[in-house]
Amino acid sequence: RRGQCMSDNGLIQKDRRHLIHSVLSWGEHERRGATILTSGDGVWLTDGDGNRLLDAFSGLWCVNIGYGQQSVVAAAAEQMARLPYATNYFHFASESAVELAARLAERAPGDLDHVFFTQGGSDAVDTAIRLIRYYFNVTGRPEKKHMIAVDRGYHGSSAAGSGITGLAVFHTHFDAPVATQHHIPTAWPYRFDGSDADLIAASVRHLRAKVAEIGPDRVAAFFAEPVVGSGGVIVPPDGWFRAMRDTCAELDIVFVADEVITGFGRTGPMFGSAYDGVAPDVMTLAKGLTSGYVPMGATLLSDRLYRAIVDASGKAVIGHGQTYSGHPVSAAVGLEVLRLYEEGGIIANGQASGAHLASALTALSDHPLVGDVRSRGLLACIELVTDKVAKTRPDPALGLPDALARCGFERRVLFRAFGDAMIGLAPPLISTIDEIDEMVARVKSTLDDMLAIPAIREALNG
Ligand code: PLP
Repeated sequence: RRGQCMSDNGLIQKDRRHLIHSVLSWGEHERRGATILTSGDGVWLTDGDGNRLLDAFSGLWCVNIGYGQQSVVAAAAEQMARLPYATNYFHFASESAVELAARLAERAPGDLDHVFFTQGGSDAVDTAIRLIRYYFNVTGRPEKKHMIAVDRGYHGSSAAGSGITGLAVFHTHFDAPVATQHHIPTAWPYRFDGSDADLIAASVRHLRAKVAEIGPDRVAAFFAEPVVGSGGVIVPPDGWFRAMRDTCAELDIVFVADEVITGFGRTGPMFGSAYDGVAPDVMTLAKGLTSGYVPMGATLLSDRLYRAIVDASGKAVIGHGQTYSGHPVSAAVGLEVLRLYEEGGIIANGQASGAHLASALTALSDHPLVGDVRSRGLLACIELVTDKVAKTRPDPALGLPDALARCGFERRVLFRAFGDAMIGLAPPLISTIDEIDEMVARVKSTLDDMLAIPAIREALNG
């Protein structure tokens, strides 16, 4: 039934034939077609059938300021009319790119003073990989090539970054990861038998063991999200990020905070690293940077790394660049979005709504299908199980993720149904308390719908 009025102008057919979508079965898509979204307002989206959909996922964890913020539209239009493009190559720049770089440097933790702009998160991670390689090569330690991340981490799907990503679907048939890319277990409190302190100690042990296995002088970097996002919104114990950061400093490993999701108030503070008081060596950003209104990402380098590169490279040209790095329209949008976060009170609103979301979600813990409910700020997950005591993951044959997505759509709420039967939530930071309650109520109804499916009911009783 989706988007059928769109078929009048053949859009559904055109989509099936010509538009390649991200992260889905291409064959399945040819059969099913797409939900075509046509407009947005606040936390609501409208599709081609005129359905109003409550967006509990901020598009793809990015539309933090909600849809339809006219001051952002005006900032983009003003910049586009005055100067639609200025290169960041060589010694050129636009006013908006320079201003945004300075404001990010001011707000980022520690000495992350230097900003390379990209078009999104994957190329921000790719930029980090390339600049870390450059740093160790130019400072005379070319043997430091290996990179480590956690096995549920997501760091984009670029040719290099997809191997840092731990999720199998980004590896299968893509020849990733390569031999210099490694993974250690994710710190997952619900799936760990022991205290938070034990879990942190186990993670540190895993990192040390991996470094010892590779060779201490051969490890360049460790990549981590403050809260694992696409891998299932896995919230680590307080202090985990700090412990990993400190271990990296001790082992002379560059610590990269991938804040593509957690940046810009998603977990409460402006940056997720701040939760544990961490100042990373490198930080990657995207999504909330422009709130999804236009594409933009960024890679921030610490002054320590940047200076070492400047000193060691002398007059050599550093061959890393992108035509759209620091795009003036994206930067103008970024500046206005940042203003809304701060002066417009959107970060503060997100903190209040995040606290409310946490308490609203605990009410779902008693649901027969719910094994774990976890959140930090406006980043949350409901993990489903078929046996609460044994924490049994639902059999994939039950098709729970598909059923969740389908019933959620029928309830007119958009969330992420992860492949292993987890529901990801990332409401816009502008969400009111009432809107959060409405999202949780619709998710609860969707969970109840699952109980009406005979195979799922049987799996629970069995
Ligand atoms: N890093 C993290 C932590 C992400 O969540 C994502 C996207 O979801 C990326 C990198 C890749 O960003 P993009 O999809 O903008 O390329």
